[in-house]
Amino acid sequence: MEIKSDIQIAQENVMEPITEIAKRAGVDDKYIELYGNYKAKVDYRILKDKKDEPNGKLILVTAITPTPAGEGKTTTTVGLGDGLRKIGKNSVLALREPSLGPVFGVKGGAAGGGYAQVVPMEDINLHFTGDFHAIGAANNLLAAMLDNHIYQGNKLRIDPTRITWRRCVDMNDRQLRFVVDGLGGRTNGRPREDGYDITVASEIMAVLCLASDIRDLKERLARIIVAYNVDGEPVTCGDLKAQGAMAALLKDALKPNLVQTLEGTPAFVHGGPFANIAHGCNSVTATKVALKLGDYVVTEAGFGADLGAEKFLDIKCRLAGLKPDAVVIVATVRALKMHGGMNKKDLNHENLEALEKGLPNLLQHVENITRVYKLPAVVAINAFPTDTKAELDLVEKKCRELGVNVALSEVWAKGGEGGVALAEEVVRLCEQPNDFSYSYDLNQPIKAKLEDIAKKIYHADGVDLVGKAPKQAEELEKLGFGNLPICVAKTQYSFSDNPALLGAPKGFRITVRNLKVSAGAGFIVALTGDVMTMPGLPPVPAAEKIDVDEDGKITGLF
Ligand code: ADP
Ligand code: MG
Repeated sequence: MEIKSDIQIAQENVMEPITEIAKRAGVDDKYIELYGNYKAKVDYRILKDKKDEPNGKLILVTAITPTPAGEGKTTTTVGLGDGLRKIGKNSVLALREPSLGPVFGVKGGAAGGGYAQVVPMEDINLHFTGDFHAIGAANNLLAAMLDNHIYQGNKLRIDPTRITWRRCVDMNDRQLRFVVDGLGGRTNGRPREDGYDITVASEIMAVLCLASDIRDLKERLARIIVAYNVDGEPVTCGDLKAQGAMAALLKDALKPNLVQTLEGTPAFVHGGPFANIAHGCNSVTATKVALKLGDYVVTEAGFGADLGAEKFLDIKCRLAGLKPDAVVIVATVRALKMHGGMNKKDLNHENLEALEKGLPNLLQHVENITRVYKLPAVVAINAFPTDTKAELDLVEKKCRELGVNVALSEVWAKGGEGGVALAEEVVRLCEQPNDFSYSYDLNQPIKAKLEDIAKKIYHADGVDLVGKAPKQAEELEKLGFGNLPICVAKTQYSFSDNPALLGAPKGFRITVRNLKVSAGAGFIVALTGDVMTMPGLPPVPAAEKIDVDEDGKITGLF
């Protein structure tokens, strides 16, 4: 059987005008701002007008610990949305916007895969509605105003060696990680060490995704810490009076983008914060709008459940007052075999022994969701063409033996039809009452919160704050940030902070090397190792294969 590429499938699809999709979602014309025929922004004021209407059910799609073999969270999210429609439910999706960095790097696009995609995939993966450019502009306006303030006399007494605000661009460009700027003599700025992050790693992105409206956006922007003064006190965006102009740049970016799946399910694709130093979920605004429109809203969080679901539940849901109804944990036979010790190059061969050995990783994620967060969960086995029936059956059988809900998902190959079993299970779970709980209380010291996450979610023995971290914890608490939630930056490849420890490791500790506050976003970032905020391109960038013909038809995106 010929396997079609994602872009081929997407281009063969006939899209409906976005006005039809808006109608299907129940969005009145007056809230719609068209970006061509197939994309629209939806005015967030719809939330005010619908505030007394009930919310739909909220379903989170997360995954086992990722391996290079791939899990397919976005694919499953899209397919589940279509599957819900197939069984007659009014579903709406809330996804993240892809970043140009990965599109041109290793991973490629992020609009789903196979017959479970959001379209127009080329636009969604490239400039889309310009949100990321607006975020980059706001980020860089703040950087320009900061350096200008110093140049013009530095009334705020900013310590040039303690500037924390970096410039940004939406590209994988390692050359820009560390730069010296302001060269060229007196009239050309003041020389200093500087650097660029990828736009999705900018705090502006996290702020945009957590802001509830323009006013909240401005307040959050104003709180962002950009530097420290010579007395060691924080200097904020508000001190530089930048928040108004930045919010003006962001006013349209704050509005959720509406697109469609291959099967015409309404999908909001909005915001894309780094899943590492930020919380990795689409915007609160888009999720809330989707909840007013759909009876079932399916959303996704980045990385595995120890990072993505943890941040979705402990940060996003807590800050936005959201209460999820069910969690889908995506697992693949391929990734489970890698957790069971199999080599990546052998994954296409059946290996029931390795598969069974890899299962504890999946089971530990399930247990975290059901026991710690007290939410109903179902495992979605994302079937790959290379999986054998014996392998798929084994995962299902083992789950059932342990009382774990499980459904085979064939959405990549079959679209919504392949998601019907999963959709039915999700609908059943959404009817169950739940006692949603967080994994830690906010009102305890930073170290205690970290211990809670590490012990309950990672199953570590404890947490060690090393180097500057103990002093930073003390300072952050003194500055009044002690009650914020924690955003852990940790490798996504292991429950531990060592990417080589696959499966469900035991007997390890988590080492926190650095603590800093994202005061605008409203969380403390705990770094457990070096975190790259500006990725690089691989030896053969995906960009080499991307092209466009005379008619504007794009090829090579995947
Ligand atoms: P995630 O959201 O977890 O990063 P995606 O859904 O973006 O994963 O999928 C990553 C890649 O894997 C995509 O290129 C997609 O087409 C591919 N993929 C996902 N599910 C399957 C599957 N069942 N069979 C084959 N390829 C798949
Ligand atoms: Mg994804």
